[in-house]
Amino acid sequence: MTSRYPHVFSPLKVGTTTIKNRILMGSMHTGLEDVPNAAERLSAYFVERAKGGVGMIITGGIGPHPTAGNGAKLVDADDVAMHRQVTDAVHEAADDVKIVMQILHTGPLAGTPDCVAPSPVKSRIGRYQPNELTEEGIEEQIAAFARCAALAKEAGYDGVEIIGSAGYLISTFLVSKTNQRTDRWGGEWANRMRFPVEIVRRVREAVGKDFILVFRISAMDMLQEGLAWDEVVSLAKALEAEGVDVISTHFCWHESFVPTIATMVPRAAFAQVTGRLRKQLSIPVITSNRINMPSVAEEVLARGDADIVSMARPMLADPDLVNKAAEGREDEINTCIGCNQACLDHTFTGRLTTCLVNPRACRETELTIAPAAAKRKIAVVGAGPAGLAYAVTAAERGHAVTLFDAAEEIGGQFNYAKRIPGKEEFYETLRYYGRMLDKLGVDVRLGTRADVDTIKAGGFDHVVVATGIAPRTPPIPGIDHAKVISYIDVITGKAEVGQKVAIIGAGGIGFDVAELITHAGKSSALDVDVFAKEWGIDFKNHPRGGVTGVTPEVATSGREVTLLQRKETPVGQGLGRTTGWTHRITLQRRGVKMVSGADYVKIDDAGLHAVVGGDPVLFEADTVIVCAGQDPLRTLHDQLEAAGISSELVGGAFESAELDAKRAIKQATECAAAA
Ligand code: FAD
Ligand code: NAP
Ligand code: SF4
Repeated sequence: MTSRYPHVFSPLKVGTTTIKNRILMGSMHTGLEDVPNAAERLSAYFVERAKGGVGMIITGGIGPHPTAGNGAKLVDADDVAMHRQVTDAVHEAADDVKIVMQILHTGPLAGTPDCVAPSPVKSRIGRYQPNELTEEGIEEQIAAFARCAALAKEAGYDGVEIIGSAGYLISTFLVSKTNQRTDRWGGEWANRMRFPVEIVRRVREAVGKDFILVFRISAMDMLQEGLAWDEVVSLAKALEAEGVDVISTHFCWHESFVPTIATMVPRAAFAQVTGRLRKQLSIPVITSNRINMPSVAEEVLARGDADIVSMARPMLADPDLVNKAAEGREDEINTCIGCNQACLDHTFTGRLTTCLVNPRACRETELTIAPAAAKRKIAVVGAGPAGLAYAVTAAERGHAVTLFDAAEEIGGQFNYAKRIPGKEEFYETLRYYGRMLDKLGVDVRLGTRADVDTIKAGGFDHVVVATGIAPRTPPIPGIDHAKVISYIDVITGKAEVGQKVAIIGAGGIGFDVAELITHAGKSSALDVDVFAKEWGIDFKNHPRGGVTGVTPEVATSGREVTLLQRKETPVGQGLGRTTGWTHRITLQRRGVKMVSGADYVKIDDAGLHAVVGGDPVLFEADTVIVCAGQDPLRTLHDQLEAAGISSELVGGAFESAELDAKRAIKQATECAAAA
């Protein structure tokens, strides 16, 4: 049954124990650690993933010292009980799954005035300048790591992972930019690596031999002043010598301007670096980053690039991913699309983590999909994300569902999104929904524009209107000029786009359209070499940090594009917190001009006339593309009301302001869970 993934499903000796397969759930700080009923909610969250077949789970980061950061800590015996509840729940649910606690000291990123670091160097993204640790302070921190690991053992964990990457405390000792000390903890490389090596030595002493010890290292930190390859190797070897059981490779420094996990990053792009490090060590190594399907994990393992594959966000998207792979049901996997919209964007804005494609993630105790008490015949009109989520959830609960869409394919606007270079993963969501509709026996009527008669003829007990949106047409004089086209015509290729283009509206769709019309060549998301070139990564020579430091070359269609909005705020400010910058940089490198505070006057043969900062400006354009937001499409709903048939509105049809797929899927799932 597991023959399709022989490498994934082969056990592996780790330290003095064995893990049953090579899939690891990577560490994610979800925010559940900090809620009042943390133990109950964390247990439910981890138990679902443990039952889902993963070999090893790494928890979100837990602080070893009061200065470690804002999140949960394990600093004394009083903290043990909460963790014990979680480890007991996981081991009871699946006694062959290992649960390993990550020890995280965020150092200069701790977000408190008492944050600490080797030197008082403020991070670009940190709130405070850190306090320089004294020699005694360093000793106190090392002791705290050792005590935290011992407490984790007492709390029933199978091991600990120490994170020594990403710009957190340990990594700031390694890099000379952040470690400017002149004592035995700074200066030459042997001194800079002393802190992690000493931590590992003391942790191993504290926990004994039969306890998994993972160390997460920055194999490529994407900083020009970052680690050189020989430093990475020598650190890994030193850690191995001090008793680390597994080296986990990380490709990240939060300050860096290179995307490493966004959807535009090719799948498994960084695994080759892990492969090189693996050759230098005799302990297992873990690779990570954009490995979202079992087939990708299998390829990485078969190539010898890693011993274990870490999947973090894919476990939010589908807790059963591993079981589905084992049972040959990979077409039922709800694939992580790398959007970051509900996970990292939430984490970095202080909201509880969840998942765009799986709104149950981290809400396992709140959003339950139970069999319906009374089975009903339900019509869902519209097979966009909202209609799909509703139909699948209602069918899972046992309702008889008929799903209508006027189009010939399911997906609604996701059929536009998937055509944007860098958003190819959206195909996976449509594959998932298509398979689930089939499996659950939903009666799918494509090419069918439902009206009142259709609904009446079906004899439904309940009607759900998920008809989405209509693109907004702003009342600008000349909006009916032949050169004005809608984003839909651009994306579907129905309209020609000229050489000089003005885009009205700089929201998510304005950015996507600008990406599409300035794009040239292969999508970087599908080709590691193109991606590396676009972001200045040198996999072959591995300069410091893995980056060249030279402004990367970017291919462009050569179109002259201006992206405009009426707001005075910087263009693109409303895009996702953790991905918006990648889109802004990409378009800037392709020469796209971004204009805020535009007051549109008219469109004529010359182009788009506007007033900007009090001055009249002509944006010469052969084509003006309208991406000015959307209005709800409720025609059917209103007609049904008039005919005395009540219906439930979901997705864009319910509310189009600030609508995205995250909200559409969440709202529809919640409605269907209660239907
Ligand atoms: P829709 O997706 O609009 O679906 C409505 C469906 O109803 C359509 O298939 C339509 O054919 C059907 N319909 C309408 N009337 C009838 C009728 N009478 N009978 C039968 N069928 C009918 N969101 C994100 O979160 N992240 C992104 O990265 C992202 N990227 C995007 C990129 C682009 C280019 C576009 C256009 C959108 C993007 N979105 C993104 C937005 C996201 O796709 C929408 O928020 C989401 O699709 C809304 O879902 P919905 O189900 O409410 O409506
Ligand atoms: P949007 O993000 O709300 O942006 C609409 C744009 O149109 C804004 O720039 C707005 O800015 C402008 N606008 C609004 N009313 C206007 C009017 N009357 N005249 C002229 N301009 C007007 O919506 P969207 O771009 O249509 O995207 C729809 C949804 O899909 C959004 O919620 C978005 O989050 C989601 N989406 C997300 C992504 C992603 O990568 N996460 C990508 C694509 C789409 P001004 O009002 O300042 O002019
Ligand atoms: Fe993946 Fe997006 Fe879900 Fe995050 S929100 S886990 S990136 S699909």
